[in-house]
Amino acid sequence: MDARNCRMCGKMFNYISGRQICSNCKKDLEEKFAEVKEYVREHKDASIAEVSEELSVPVKQIKDWIREERLQFSAATGEICCENCGKPITTGKFCDNCRKKMVNKLDNAYQKPQVEIKRDRKTNPKMRFLDN
Ligand SMILES: [Zn+2]
Ligand SMILES: [Zn+2]
Repeated sequence: MDARNCRMCGKMFNYISGRQICSNCKKDLEEKFAEVKEYVREHKDASIAEVSEELSVPVKQIKDWIREERLQFSAATGEICCENCGKPITTGKFCDNCRKKMVNKLDNAYQKPQVEIKRDRKTNPKMRFLDN
C-alpha cells in the first residue's frame, strides 16, 4: 500500500497511479470537468480566465486539461502556447507544425531497424537470392 496525501484536500489515501489525489477529489474534479466542457461548448469565445471565474476552477487546472487534450478552446486566446515555438494553440502541448516535425522524427526512428534488416539480408546469401 502506498499511502499519500491528496494534493487537493490533504487527506491520506491509497495511491495507485496518475494524479496524486484521493478518489473523492477525483470524482469532484470529473464533475467540474464536465461543467467546464459544457461551458466552453456554449461560450465559444470564452477565455480561460472567464471560465475559471465563472465556474471557480483554478486557471492551472483548466490549462492542465487543455494540455491533456481533454479540453479545447475554439479560438486561440494566446493563453495556451506551443511548448516548442510559442505559437498560440487551442489544445495539447504543441502547434500543428511542431507536432508534424515530431511525428517525422518518430518515423525516422522507426525506420532505423528496417535499414538494419535489409543489411542483414545482403550478408545472407539465401536472402540475397530472394532480393533479386
Ligand atoms: Zn482529496
Ligand atoms: Zn510550435
